[in-house]
Amino acid sequence: MAEAEANPSLGGYDDDFVSEVEDELQCAICRLPLKDPILTKCGHRFCRDCLDSHFTSLERNGKPLICPKDRNNLTRDEDTFADKATERKILSLLITCPSEGCQWTGELRSKDDHLASCLFKSVSCTNKNCDVKLTRNTLQEHVTMSCPWRIVSCQYCLFSTHPACKTNIHQSKCRRFPLDCPESCGAVIPRGKILFHIKEQCPLTLIPCPYAQIGCTTKIKRGEVESHLQSTVKMHLDIACVELGNTQRELAKTKGQLEDTLVRSQQEFKEITRKLEGKINNLTRKLEIKIDGIEKLVLSSDEQNYFNWKVSGLGKALKKAKHGEKTSILSDPFYRYAYKCRLVLDPNGYGMGENTHLSIFFFVMT
Ligand SMILES: [Zn+2]
Ligand SMILES: [Zn+2]
Ligand SMILES: [Zn+2]
Ligand SMILES: [Zn+2]
Ligand SMILES: [Zn+2]
Ligand SMILES: [Zn+2]
Ligand SMILES: [Zn+2]
Repeated sequence: MAEAEANPSLGGYDDDFVSEVEDELQCAICRLPLKDPILTKCGHRFCRDCLDSHFTSLERNGKPLICPKDRNNLTRDEDTFADKATERKILSLLITCPSEGCQWTGELRSKDDHLASCLFKSVSCTNKNCDVKLTRNTLQEHVTMSCPWRIVSCQYCLFSTHPACKTNIHQSKCRRFPLDCPESCGAVIPRGKILFHIKEQCPLTLIPCPYAQIGCTTKIKRGEVESHLQSTVKMHLDIACVELGNTQRELAKTKGQLEDTLVRSQQEFKEITRKLEGKINNLTRKLEIKIDGIEKLVLSSDEQNYFNWKVSGLGKALKKAKHGEKTSILSDPFYRYAYKCRLVLDPNGYGMGENTHLSIFFFVMT
């Protein structure tokens, strides 16, 4: 017996039997009613696990396998037999349910079936994250009604779901959670509409007088706009009068400024015109080339643009011109760069060149 290493975890039935179990049906190793009994050739009975464990321990220590009861030598396969008759007897013994509070009594073989539905059996909550254990008869109520981890939907935004224990966190951000107006007007508004309420609806929000445009700088609570308008009719009219006067003065000032600008623009325009005329005259003068009896006319320094013009009767024409007769001499038409051109010569000068110069004009005819 001293060599027997009792190991209750591998042992026989640890149940509450209604009547005392006779010695014959108890394991000599674990002292419990036999589970899966094995009969040895020496006539002793042990639970299968108890005997296996005993043999394994002997083998590990290099010792021969012996019966823990009478030390008879045994071999694993030849000297041990499954004792079905004893097993049936034991499975027929009556036990009570191990669940506290359960009144069930039945054969040992029915234990698992009973426990599968025993209302007093301890079970785990089925909600995620909840590690509460409770009896099966209270499970339903816990899972659906009181478990902090049951999933609930927000009563305000309806479509949002969360564990019941996270309700406060959800409500602290829920856009539809009702809050008192921060201005204390008494209104209860969903969180997401508070700003709109304050900006557009709250009777306690300070807003500018509707006549701010004409100069009333009063800020009034939205709910008191009407009474402000009624009690300040004269003030609003006075302000409007002053504002009207100011506007008229502004307009007059602006009109004066515009007129000044117009006069200045006209003067500037005249000045520019005068300068342009001066430039045109200068250019015209440059074209009047002083020629002293020459017959060759230089149109440009470019050799290709030399133009030879035989002018006849220049002396006569000059004399006539000195006596005041109009005596322009015209060249034959010629082409330059696809333009039809002609030269005209005033022997006694033209314009500013009169009496001192000989003027030649270059006409583009087409
Ligand atoms: Zn045993
Ligand atoms: Zn024996
Ligand atoms: Zn039960
Ligand atoms: Zn729970
Ligand atoms: Zn919500
Ligand atoms: Zn309000
Ligand atoms: Zn006002």
